[in-house]
Amino acid sequence: MTCTTLCYDEQLLAELRQVYGIHGLRAFFSAIQRPPTRYYIRVNVLKIDSGKLLDDMRSQGYMVYRDEFLEEALWLPVRGPQRVRDTGCYIVVEKKAAESIMMGAHVYAPGVRSIDDCAKPGVEATVKAENDVVVANAIVVEEFLHSLRRGRGLVAENVRPLYSVPSLRDTVWARNGLIYEQSISSMLVARVLDPAPGSVIVDMCAAPGGKTGHVYELVGGRARIIALDHSASKTRRLVENLKRLGHCGVEVIRLDSRYADIRLGKGIADYVILDPPCTSLGVLPKVWDKKSYRDVRNSALYQRQFLRAAYGLLKPGGVLVYSTCTVTLSENEENIQYAVEELGFKPVMPPLRVFGKGVGTWADYLIRVHPHVHGATGYFVARLVKPR
Ligand code: SAH
Repeated sequence: MTCTTLCYDEQLLAELRQVYGIHGLRAFFSAIQRPPTRYYIRVNVLKIDSGKLLDDMRSQGYMVYRDEFLEEALWLPVRGPQRVRDTGCYIVVEKKAAESIMMGAHVYAPGVRSIDDCAKPGVEATVKAENDVVVANAIVVEEFLHSLRRGRGLVAENVRPLYSVPSLRDTVWARNGLIYEQSISSMLVARVLDPAPGSVIVDMCAAPGGKTGHVYELVGGRARIIALDHSASKTRRLVENLKRLGHCGVEVIRLDSRYADIRLGKGIADYVILDPPCTSLGVLPKVWDKKSYRDVRNSALYQRQFLRAAYGLLKPGGVLVYSTCTVTLSENEENIQYAVEELGFKPVMPPLRVFGKGVGTWADYLIRVHPHVHGATGYFVARLVKPR
């Protein structure tokens, strides 16, 4: 049988079984096909008090709640699944598009793979992914042919997504930089870093800037923050995001940060955040995914190059927080073991104990967020120190 949904090879499955066990893995697979149970925003506490924003949002009719642990975090419930109609008239979209349409986004030309002839303006179509997973009903718009020819613009308006979250992107709060959409798992990183004002902080893989912005807010802008990313387009987005939040003075540098210590200088940083590219197995929802053990190994080796540079960047006594949005041992615990045994880092207890523990020798020092247990993005966070 050919695989259509979560296509991971046997060796990768074996590694995941070591993390979750057979039953846990089944629960994990089912959880990553759904969105998180809560949709989180981070409040830019330099612009507004989170309690004040909560009241404002509630007075505008939003159902919004405080997080139990982080005062800067608010969340809105994700609704669904609701029944999507099979209209017999299909728009097929690529993976990324399907994953956002499943959560309420409209259908735009770049995501469309194919569209049936019956799809005419005003017709309610069924939107599905290439593996036939149905994600929404959407009404074809007047200008759809024009959009498709140009390769951009609206094709169909989402009227019934499988899941829904209120869209906050076009609100005054988002436009004026009072809030930033960020998963609770990702917010743990800056909290585990817990940086002191007046310090030098390097964010090695910073774009689009979720963690950079959070760190800025935690130190009240009173630190030298250097944000690196090698992608030109993503660095532009990073700059835009920081500007919207009103975070001035962050040094954004386009750089291959595997060599950051050589380019910026050795021993310059009190704190480093390393959130490198990973296999993203913890990211949800997934309409389908295909990864091999080889992808995982390659990713882990790539991450080790950043770990070496992080060691070089740090002052003796400096703190590294390493994080990924994946759940493999290779990219998480085994890379920590590499950082400890080969580079000389020392694991230390994170300043907050939330969610789950890691696996193996350093389990108590490591934080893991499990999609099937916590209803949130699968994540790994570790705090390490470069000895004096
Ligand atoms: N920390 C970010 C998300 C980072 S995703 C946030 O919280 O918003 C990983 C990032 O690593 C991507 O933006 C990618 O462009 C960047 N990246 C990948 N390889 C890189 C390299 N060699 N040097 C610098 N950045 C790199």
